[in-house]
Amino acid sequence: MSQYDYLVVGAGLSGAVFANAAKRAGKSVLVIDRRDHIAGNVYTEDVEGIQVHRYGAHIFHTSMRDVWGYVNRFAEFNNYVNSPVANFHGNMYNMPFNMNTFAKMWPGVVTPADARAKIAEQVAAENIGEPANLEEQALSLVGRDIFETLVKGYTEKQWGRDCRDLPASIIRRLPCRFTYDNNYFNDRYQGIPMGGYTKMVANMLEGVEVRCGVEYKELAAAEPDIAARTIYCGPIDAFYDFKLGTLEYRSLRFETETLDEQDHQGVAVVNYTEREIPYTRIIEHKHFEFGTQEKTVITREYPADWKPGDEPTTPSTTPRTRPCTGSTRSWRHRRAM
Ligand SMILES: Cc1cc2nc3c(=O)[nH]c(=O)nc-3n(C[C@H](O)[C@H](O)[C@H](O)COP(=O)(O)OP(=O)(O)OC[C@H]3O[C@@H](n4cnc5c(N)ncnc54)[C@H](O)[C@@H]3O)c2cc1C
Repeated sequence: MSQYDYLVVGAGLSGAVFANAAKRAGKSVLVIDRRDHIAGNVYTEDVEGIQVHRYGAHIFHTSMRDVWGYVNRFAEFNNYVNSPVANFHGNMYNMPFNMNTFAKMWPGVVTPADARAKIAEQVAAENIGEPANLEEQALSLVGRDIFETLVKGYTEKQWGRDCRDLPASIIRRLPCRFTYDNNYFNDRYQGIPMGGYTKMVANMLEGVEVRCGVEYKELAAAEPDIAARTIYCGPIDAFYDFKLGTLEYRSLRFETETLDEQDHQGVAVVNYTEREIPYTRIIEHKHFEFGTQEKTVITREYPADWKPGDEPTTPSTTPRTRPCTGSTRSWRHRRAM
């Protein structure tokens, strides 16, 4: 007879949502996580009264009303709208590509018709038929100016490879918005849980037994019958003991610093799109919650090669690892299954 109905491996969002539902259904649940804290990759911790996103910035966004209603049962969300900017050699551009971006890039371009004509002219100048790689794909979608200013360096840093050595399939689309709207997401709902994601996940896990610092494989070896069923939310290659090899993940190194100034960059997210600057982004965490603290906390994000033992982020899509759907995003979601 098992001690629990369910063993949930991973105290991140997937595990917490499942555990909450199972508990409400009257099941007995044990949640474990190898980390020393709950909340998985959305973990936030308090530094100088600021909620710091330790594993990278997380903005909650969805178009599904029931999902939005669900998360609002566990946290009150603020009205943060993600509007990152890009810094290329000290010039600032709005993201995602929209009329503010185009007007800055091409003085004199002021209307959507001007911008469409400019992009069409640049795309035509490249004269690319079937794109053979990511560079050709991007040039055939947005032309040279946007590619070289906002796509090339950032993408090469992210993937650790030249754009000409990356598959065209990574970017099927480079969405251009022909309005003066800097909202990064198209979803109907977005925001940040006030007081941090960790508090939200703790509310989801209320009344559920949670053990941190516990490795699944060790527990499963020591107590194979601990639960009738296991819900595994870790990397799928590790689940199978890397019998088919490892996925080709990328990783991120975070360099976090507390600064004795009130406002470092005036916005939560600044992308650094030139190749020469080794980090891809600087996050200034207080702006996610409109903080007015005297100090500020920033994190530089450095893309890195992944090796077993490192925290994985997005798996690279190579012919060897590409999922059936061909999309990078679906890998991330599979990993979360
Ligand atoms: C840098 C970055 C930025 C992102 N930004 C956004 C964003 O802005 N908006 C958005 O919607 N999504 C974003 N995402 C995606 C989001 O983080 C994930 O979709 C979500 O957090 C997945 O939750 P999860 O519970 O499935 O996995 P995780 O949060 O990864 O949790 C899995 C947990 O399982 C534990 N675990 C794994 N293996 C074992 C084991 N063998 N034994 C014990 N414990 C184990 C891990 O320690 C981890 O805590 C981002 C992801 C990254 C990497």
